[in-house]
Amino acid sequence: MAQVVIDRDRCKGCGLCVQACPQNVLAMARELNAKANVFARVGEPRHCIGCRLCCIACPDVAIAMRVTGTLYHYFAY
Ligand code: SF4
Ligand code: SF4
Repeated sequence: MAQVVIDRDRCKGCGLCVQACPQNVLAMARELNAKANVFARVGEPRHCIGCRLCCIACPDVAIAMRVTGTLYHYFAY
């Protein structure tokens, strides 16, 4: 089963991942991270279909995907 993992302290709060998600899984938190930005959080993890659109949309590589125990980072090169 796929699980989205967001590194809150890498997030700059642009909201692109929230807009990209077709399942409305993601939302912006009402707190600030270590960089004093609002950040994306996983609100409805059960609705995630593992499409990875959020991972691709994030310009700061703040979203990874855990699938059967392995954590996959996208564009982290
Ligand atoms: S993998 Fe797809 S469904 Fe899951 S949170 Fe990301 S965009 Fe939404
Ligand atoms: S796309 Fe990346 S930087 Fe933008 S809100 Fe989502 S996790 Fe944060």
